[in-house]
Amino acid sequence: MRRTLFESLTRRPLTEPPPAPDEAALQELAQSVNRAARAKLGRSLSIRAVDAGSCNGCELEIHALSNAFYDLERFGLHFVASPRHADVLLVTGPVTKNMREALERTYNATPDPKWVVAVGRCAADGGVFSGSYAVVGGVKDVIPVDLHIPGCPPAPTDLLKGLIALLSSPH
Ligand code: SF4
Repeated sequence: MRRTLFESLTRRPLTEPPPAPDEAALQELAQSVNRAARAKLGRSLSIRAVDAGSCNGCELEIHALSNAFYDLERFGLHFVASPRHADVLLVTGPVTKNMREALERTYNATPDPKWVVAVGRCAADGGVFSGSYAVVGGVKDVIPVDLHIPGCPPAPTDLLKGLIALLSSPH
């Protein structure tokens, strides 16, 4: 017991050091995000995740953001259960026909100012599901998108770099 206590006091934290904001994301945000609106939010963002039809690969990486290694909340970023409490919609997957209306309603239920982050290749343009009878297309085909985080799926560090860029872009 004494040894465990001593080790817990002397061991370095497990948590990954914070990554620098993604440069490409900063550039994309500079073009699309209203600076005045961003300034209202300070350095904290509430995120509502929306699965618009993904294979669940992107969700696994998003879930990893909440573990002790990536520890999303230390950056002032946290997930919320309702779009009415959200500043950011984090949308994964191609948008399926069955999820189109749900995505539109979620977007409309999110108060302004709000941002949409499309996560993964499928969210950009439908990815491997493009052309399917069940798919509308990418997220931008249904709601306005402010930032794309590429990858199939993007690693948690890539997600963090994109989200930190949202907090870091000049006010
Ligand atoms: S980008 Fe890759 S991991 Fe994410 S939903 Fe599409 S196929 Fe799945």
